[in-house]
Amino acid sequence: MDGPGGSGKSTVAREIARRLGLRYLDTGAMYRAVTQVALESRIDIEDHNAVAELAERAVLTVGTSPDNPAIAVNGEAVDDKIRTRAVTNAVSAVAAVPAVRRRLVARQQQIIAEASPVGIVVEGRDIGSVVAPHAPVKVFLTASTEVRALRRSHQLGEKGIDDVARTLAELDRRDVLDSTRAADPLAIPDDAIVLDSTALSVQDVVDEVLRHCERVSARAS
Ligand code: C5P
Repeated sequence: MDGPGGSGKSTVAREIARRLGLRYLDTGAMYRAVTQVALESRIDIEDHNAVAELAERAVLTVGTSPDNPAIAVNGEAVDDKIRTRAVTNAVSAVAAVPAVRRRLVARQQQIIAEASPVGIVVEGRDIGSVVAPHAPVKVFLTASTEVRALRRSHQLGEKGIDDVARTLAELDRRDVLDSTRAADPLAIPDDAIVLDSTALSVQDVVDEVLRHCERVSARAS
């Protein structure tokens, strides 16, 4: 499942995993974890060699339970630290470093292989295009920028119009960086279904994805 920030991917992906009894992987959390450690270590995130070296050394432990997808770096839990504004605003620069992507994509493919034969719902930006090009079901989830910013602001507990405007500007900036980077940009795979959640509830989107899974499964049998 791919899509931009605030499209509802995490909520939908976790619910689909629960409903189908599958594992779950949030690949954005992995890029966030590397970013958090880079910021904490005071590494200049524009220094690609230093960031790549850090990603190479970092030992990521990634949980795949949809109810508790815990993540740790070098044995330290970072779940509470990876959603801060500082990490959110720095993560796209870190995720654009090709060596970081090579390292994390390889780890993601390993986690997917380990989830076999149960199966796994994986969310990110390049899952259908790069990480799992042979996935049987590909979903690209999107929504208008305004609605995505409102959802993000709500998650962050923001109320003021200035806060929402700032969140919208930051989301816009991240969209541009994620869609225009040279390595594995956010893209809609040819064989993905595209769902626009602007006017849909979480339940509507979950139902639509489940119907698509049934169609794919009926075609395969
Ligand atoms: O999904 P989330 O907003 O947590 O992702 C954080 C960032 O991680 C994205 O803005 C993007 O820069 C990066 N990312 C990526 N590839 C993925 C998942 C996330 O580049 N598969």
